[in-house]
Amino acid sequence: MHGNRLLLSPGLVFAGGVAATAAWLVALLFFRITDESGLIIAGASGALGGLGGMIGALWQNYTTRHTQEYIAQQEHQAKHDPLTGLFNRNALFTELEHSIARARQTDTVLGVLFLDLDRFKVINDSMGHEAGDELLRIVAERLEGTVRGGDLVARFGGDEFVVVCRDLLSEQSVLAVAKQILKSFTEPVSLYGGAQVISTSIGIAIARPDDTRRSDDLVRDADAAMYKAKKAKSGYAVFDEVQRLQVIDRLDIERDLVQALEMEQLVVFYQPLIDVEGKRLYGFEALVRWNHPTRGLIGPGDFLPVAEETGMMARIGELVLREACAQAAVWNHLSPDAQGVKMGVNIAEQQLLDGNFPYLVADVLEWSGLPPAQLVLEITENVIVDHLAGLSILRDIRDLGVTLAIDDFGTGQSSLSYIKQFDMVSTLKVDKTFVDDMGSGVNRAIIEAVVAMARALDLQVVAEGVESEHQVKELLDFGVHIMQGYLFNRPVAGDAIDPTSWFISRDHSIAAPIDPGAPGLSSTQVSRAFTGTLDHTRARPKRLG
Ligand code: C2E
Ligand code: MG
Ligand code: MG
Repeated sequence: MHGNRLLLSPGLVFAGGVAATAAWLVALLFFRITDESGLIIAGASGALGGLGGMIGALWQNYTTRHTQEYIAQQEHQAKHDPLTGLFNRNALFTELEHSIARARQTDTVLGVLFLDLDRFKVINDSMGHEAGDELLRIVAERLEGTVRGGDLVARFGGDEFVVVCRDLLSEQSVLAVAKQILKSFTEPVSLYGGAQVISTSIGIAIARPDDTRRSDDLVRDADAAMYKAKKAKSGYAVFDEVQRLQVIDRLDIERDLVQALEMEQLVVFYQPLIDVEGKRLYGFEALVRWNHPTRGLIGPGDFLPVAEETGMMARIGELVLREACAQAAVWNHLSPDAQGVKMGVNIAEQQLLDGNFPYLVADVLEWSGLPPAQLVLEITENVIVDHLAGLSILRDIRDLGVTLAIDDFGTGQSSLSYIKQFDMVSTLKVDKTFVDDMGSGVNRAIIEAVVAMARALDLQVVAEGVESEHQVKELLDFGVHIMQGYLFNRPVAGDAIDPTSWFISRDHSIAAPIDPGAPGLSSTQVSRAFTGTLDHTRARPKRLG
């Protein structure tokens, strides 16, 4: 094969031809002009010329071939994943861009399938990285063996693969490929002697010939559909119009949120917690809102998940903490009756993961002058359970004299006895779902058990989401007397709460006349108004002494 290529090389044939022609011309010239010796010289010089030409051509051929092989090897490496030999992420986007152009020209349908293996992390962690690599190689082989000849398989990264189905006549054909892939996964994989059943979730984006999406849009949409499939445990899911709008919305929120922080669009609202038995104001919960320039007031449920995913939660959390402590300290200043009133602030997972968080809390307390006993940090049950390692952080916070509350209690996976471990927690906020459905036997039993356990552990119980007089009565019967809910007040802006009427002793079990419409000052505005009376010079948290 090697030799054949050499013999057939056009460069070699050409060089040989040139050398032979030159030798013939020289021989002819000498034969005509001189005698036999001339003929010998002519023959020899011709042969030498021919040989030189051959060697030159051979050398050229050799170097060209090696350069070409080297370039081809480099090109292959740049385009392929070293583990599986499939196209890599970069090559996928290039190839997909070509495929989109071709689908438009040929009026055909294109399908992009985004695959994510379901239990890959478990296998990788329990059996080791080599087993994980082997599994990825097997999956790559299976995919290549399942898709049609013209289709493209790429490893997107980690345990994610992308299949591009080209030249299809209908959308149904894309689904058929997805089903075929799922079927190929039903057969167990033999991994180091043991049979492993693996499964995958597939998200599908389908591009019709008139589709205007580019390669990264299609992969992003297929990825979003994959999450839908994973969540629904449905095997595969197709990206649809509703999802498209959600993705665009999410991208808009992500873009605007960066500016929201700089442009002081985040505001903090306060919802009262009422001690119904004592007929007094027990405290407030600080709840963040986004005063969006075009969309109006946006609730935390619509932007905090984006903030968490994009790593902005710690900044937002610090802003709310500063604002809420500053606001409570202002009220303390304006009314002596405000001084025992608690201020609850929600703490997100990302904030707790930062080892410096206790120092930040200490700094904010010192900066605002709020007595630590008035601050309550609310942490959801799941976050506490997921981060047992973070317990030392919680102890540090408790040691500052701050109260810790478990929020949305009853919605997570923790058992009642488990809560005993959290000796630094002193308040339980029972989730609205239980308050809503106290009529059901199970919920009654749970609330009864929670209250009994809370008493035994000396915990304060707060009921969230109280909306009716009937619920108030039932909760009082259970022994729960601190309540928060629309029945008393919706969350309102800080400047809608008049400290002269709010903090004087009066019957707070009757909703106070406050204006819920006021958008309020931005967090930074309240904090700025505050700098006049307080030392606001330290921007960085200091270390606890
Ligand atoms: P959460 O901490 O459990 O706050 C209580 C939520 O229940 C608030 O919703 C409040 O407006 C709502 N609520 C109170 N009473 C009633 C009622 O009677 N009926 C109904 N239907 N709802 C009631 P919101 O303000 O939308 O906040 C939702 C969640 O967002 C909060 O749940 C909290 O987990 C999170 N969140 C809000 N602000 C912050 C923040 O600054 N930081 C962090 N990390 N999370 C926050
Ligand atoms: Mg809360
Ligand atoms: Mg809650």
